[in-house]
Amino acid sequence: MAEMQDYYELLGVAKDADAQEIKKAYRKLALKYHPDRNPGNKEAEEKFKQVSDAYQVLSDPEKRAAYDRYGHAAFQAGGMGSPAGGAQYGNFRDAADIFNEFFGGFSGGRSSGGGFGGFDFFGGGYDDEGGSRASAQRRGSDMRIELQITLEEAASGTEKTIKYNRMVACPTCNGSGAKAGTEKKTCPTCKGAGSVTKSNGFMRFTQTCPNCGGTGKVIESPCPDCNGTGRIKQRSEVKIKIPAGVHTGSRLRKSGAGNAGIDGGPYGDLYVVIVVAEHNFFERDGDDLYCQMPIKFTLAALGGNLEVRTLTGKVNLKIPAGTQTGTLFRIKGHGMPVLNSTAKGDQFVKVNVEVPRKLTPEQTKKLEEFAIACGDDKHEPESTSSSFFKRVFKD
Ligand SMILES: [Zn+2]
Ligand SMILES: [Zn+2]
Repeated sequence: MAEMQDYYELLGVAKDADAQEIKKAYRKLALKYHPDRNPGNKEAEEKFKQVSDAYQVLSDPEKRAAYDRYGHAAFQAGGMGSPAGGAQYGNFRDAADIFNEFFGGFSGGRSSGGGFGGFDFFGGGYDDEGGSRASAQRRGSDMRIELQITLEEAASGTEKTIKYNRMVACPTCNGSGAKAGTEKKTCPTCKGAGSVTKSNGFMRFTQTCPNCGGTGKVIESPCPDCNGTGRIKQRSEVKIKIPAGVHTGSRLRKSGAGNAGIDGGPYGDLYVVIVVAEHNFFERDGDDLYCQMPIKFTLAALGGNLEVRTLTGKVNLKIPAGTQTGTLFRIKGHGMPVLNSTAKGDQFVKVNVEVPRKLTPEQTKKLEEFAIACGDDKHEPESTSSSFFKRVFKD
């Protein structure tokens, strides 16, 4: 490690400087050495990093106390005499982050492929993996695909293969956009900085360079396969596991299955939105299922067993004697599985009592006897026929 300059000396403040003085000193130096003001100047860049480090330590009372006591050793992993091995202070933020925090966070930060947001001091998104400044690398956009499944599939869970079109890194140029054998050239507008500076009174705002989109480079000979974009449309395939109990609107994420990033940036994600198709027998309400069953009027009157279809086979439902049409029965635990749980909803069965439409002479005779037994024969028939059912079916 290169010899490190004393943090107080770096900021040009006294050992007993207060927070306000440290802040002021950093502000002055950070603006002076900011890479956007010193494009291509390695020394200034190094200085910018150093003053940012110094500010990060001296602006934090706890870190400052450790520094006062142990010096730079306090922040070197495993350093001698450092508190708790020093590792706890080893996590330095990027100089750019400190700068942006200090000046109110102008950075658009990580954008998801939808263009740069607002001002950006380094002309590009920050790759949150490396924490370093990542030219104009941008994460690819997320994608959303609707997937229709059957109610049975929603109940049991399933695995599906989805075929869809997305942008992938061009294999010819490896996503660089430059024709094989050629390289990108430094952008003449921003001279490679990726950003252009505008003056606004005291503050100077820096914006993404419109010519190169923040990459600092331009392509002279574009790759013929992707026209220099670095990405091509491709038919892709992805397998997705659908857990039991999903609903219409349930969203499943497939990491990295979205569009390719810009300039080699990471891929976006794929969101699969579930649509559970209507069922011809079951109607779903939350985790419960509803269905309707016709039953014979004799079963309704006498009682007995009714075979009912469920998602997992047939069950016998006990129909009590004297059941009225429209009665709702519950079959516990035969509904949909509850997502991410072992619980299950119920199945509800609404019975519709059916009256026979045609009777044989023998059946008619028996029912007439039944009617007499009930005293129903006392009513005056409305037609010439004395048939009980002619009267019933007059509507
Ligand atoms: Zn290409
Ligand atoms: Zn440029």
